[in-house]
Amino acid sequence: MLEFHAPLPAATVARVRDNWLSLQADVAAAAQRANRQPDSIRVVGVTKYVDPETAACLPAAGCLDLGENRPQMLWEKHAWLQEHAIDAAPVRWHLIGHLQRNKLRRTVPCLELLHSVDSLRLATSLGEQTAGKALRRIPLPVLLEINISGEDAKTGLTPQEARDVLEATLPYDGIQVIGLMGMAGFSSSPKQAQAEFAQLRCWRDAWQSEFGLSLPELSMGMSGDFEAAIAEGATLLRIGSRLFEGIERRPA
Ligand SMILES: *Cc1c(COP(=O)(O)O)cnc(C)c1O
Repeated sequence: MLEFHAPLPAATVARVRDNWLSLQADVAAAAQRANRQPDSIRVVGVTKYVDPETAACLPAAGCLDLGENRPQMLWEKHAWLQEHAIDAAPVRWHLIGHLQRNKLRRTVPCLELLHSVDSLRLATSLGEQTAGKALRRIPLPVLLEINISGEDAKTGLTPQEARDVLEATLPYDGIQVIGLMGMAGFSSSPKQAQAEFAQLRCWRDAWQSEFGLSLPELSMGMSGDFEAAIAEGATLLRIGSRLFEGIERRPA
């Protein structure tokens, strides 16, 4: 749990903590139904709906993995926590949306994990710009975002594009692909969503053997479909609205 120099709004802290505990209970129950260990599943609390102070209630409640879908919003909240937390070091930031290549140098040093490598161009830039430039002391772990629903409106790589990216990134030592990310279609029924998550796992399994890689992470499942994702092997859930239920949303 994170502590702050000044107190956060007490009612918001209490509500976010309740949401966090109730989510953890549901995650544990879904894990048990799937014969999985609850601690094999990490929740990334998605803070994009709220301002930095409200977002800070999550690490104050014990959720130390935080996600944003826009780089500028991530920088802003990252900086806010650096300034206001007594020690912000335990917070791990995840970018779960598109990273423009001109924002790469500023974003990469903030990141625990980039979930959303969505083009060969981005993968190549990351490989080149992280190489030997001391952006980080260790390789940047990334996931390839796959369009699992086939919907045009969804971003992400086709399976063939993902194989090209895997091949292209193998030589780079500044980034390391450690898994896949996917989003169920907007109009997918719960059953279809689960089938889409199962498909992502199948590709992961196939590419692990084809490329001799270890791809342990599957980032799939949001507020509305995380239980299906857990059943299909999700290791990272990206949860936003469920954690901020009952809180006035103040987009930053
Ligand atoms: C907003 C967002 C989420 C969280 O969605 P909720 O339904 O609010 O839990 C997850 N993944 C991505 C990529 C998002 O942009």
